[in-house]
Amino acid sequence: MNTHLVRSSEPYPLLIIGAGPAGLAAAHMAARDGFRVALIEAHLLGGLALNYGSVPTQALIRTSRLYAEMRDAQLYGAQAPAPVEVDFARAMSRMRRIRARLCRFNTKDRITADGIDLFFGKARFSSEDTVDVDGTRLRFRKALIATGSRSLLPRIPGLDDAGFLTNETVFDLTTLPKSLLVIGGGPVGCELAQAFCRFGARTIIVHAEPLFLPMEERDAAQLLTQALAHDGIEIHLNTRVVNVQTAGGKKIVEIVNDGNVATIEVDEILTGIGRVPAILGLNLKAAGVAYQPDSGVQVDDFLRTTNPRIFAAGDAGLKHRFIDTAEASALIAVHNALHRGRRRLSSLTIPWCTYTDPEIAHVGMYVREARERGIPVKTFTVPMHDVVRAIVDGEENGFVKIHVREGTDTILGATVVARHAGEMINGLSLAMVAGIGLSTMARVIHAYPTQAQAIKKAAQAYVKTRKSRWYETIFRRWFDR
Ligand SMILES: Cc1cc2nc3c(=O)[nH]c(=O)nc-3n(C[C@H](O)[C@H](O)[C@H](O)COP(=O)(O)OP(=O)(O)OC[C@H]3O[C@@H](n4cnc5c(N)ncnc54)[C@H](O)[C@@H]3O)c2cc1C
Repeated sequence: MNTHLVRSSEPYPLLIIGAGPAGLAAAHMAARDGFRVALIEAHLLGGLALNYGSVPTQALIRTSRLYAEMRDAQLYGAQAPAPVEVDFARAMSRMRRIRARLCRFNTKDRITADGIDLFFGKARFSSEDTVDVDGTRLRFRKALIATGSRSLLPRIPGLDDAGFLTNETVFDLTTLPKSLLVIGGGPVGCELAQAFCRFGARTIIVHAEPLFLPMEERDAAQLLTQALAHDGIEIHLNTRVVNVQTAGGKKIVEIVNDGNVATIEVDEILTGIGRVPAILGLNLKAAGVAYQPDSGVQVDDFLRTTNPRIFAAGDAGLKHRFIDTAEASALIAVHNALHRGRRRLSSLTIPWCTYTDPEIAHVGMYVREARERGIPVKTFTVPMHDVVRAIVDGEENGFVKIHVREGTDTILGATVVARHAGEMINGLSLAMVAGIGLSTMARVIHAYPTQAQAIKKAAQAYVKTRKSRWYETIFRRWFDR
């Protein structure tokens, strides 16, 4: 039921569908700029990130990491309290407490106190400038589609009948499944598989590709495979789940690898094979908005859809599906929609991170992308086992790899695999946004000892190549005289 009466029959200067990171950022910005805003949410304020995404995932990862450290206590010269009993219910209730605490940042009262008209219900376009929400028709001058994404569900015979978990249901568990089969080795599958394994579930991961995280560089994905195997996860790469049955309260999963069929018996199945934009039911045709079911709402670089009144931001229309990107794209869309701005999505530098242990973070171009565009690349790599802080912390698994345009110190992209790669990548993003090259980074004094010194070492490696080139030129000139 809607909590607000429509205050005026005047069209809203901005109507936003979806109150996830994108919708909320857009609504607050537009309201601060003095515009009347309608914000429509079908389910929970805060969207995916807060309720079924990074917040609950990170909370579980934190507790599971602690159990892993207790397991490995001897490596740190410590004695683990024996036996280490996992209290899964307590970990889950900590996660829910954290989620509830963070929900307080986006309550109905806080949103409406900012002058935003909040409507609860499923929005559906009825024309090019109207939206219906539970029987209320709202008119708009500009609209923003920020409906996010939903889990892509695998079509596997027997899976629906056997039952399975997704990120929308896994956080409701109160008891740890004795065994868990994870379908999909993308970020969500790998993060949750590692967490559940560390809680003590027998965990199996089945991934159709030859390496986890297909987007990432091969050596990063290989290190992750080793780390997951070290944790005790049973890994099946190049493998497909082809059938699921139930027997005696167990799920019997049939897998195929290179023509060989095997069966695995588990208590639960979790799917994490990817996400698709949540645009079904919006009636985009009536609004004159073009879309594709898998890539979402079609937008140009200014985030305009094919209807000039309507914009889209976040997972609903972007290739990069991350929280900060959702917010940043929403701010671009609001600026362009309400202030006749010309800000471009392509101006954003977008870093991301998979929060496994070690974490895998990336920003900018991959080498393959640079090659595709004909850009000559030189790469500087520093293994974490050359970094004092990583050695002291017993966190040597990983590397920093920085790609520059050959012959220059301009950073094109970087991959960091390290315990705290998500923190380390931010320095590289900052450098890229500010146009700071490796020569300057080599001069920046880093606090000692920190793992981010790996970045400085890579920058120093670059400077050495410049110096040796300089000496080469001088010697050549000398001998040529
Ligand atoms: C398990 C998991 C972990 C993740 N971890 C990370 C991470 O660590 N870091 C990171 O950057 N990203 C992470 N992500 C991705 C991140 O959550 C999304 O990129 C982000 O939430 C997108 O924000 P959004 O506002 O576009 O959409 P959403 O957060 O999906 O919000 C969209 C909102 O729109 C509402 N809505 C949909 N349709 C309608 C309708 N017709 N009418 C009204 N309302 C509607 C939905 O109910 C929802 O509240 C993770 C995702 C998952 C699944």
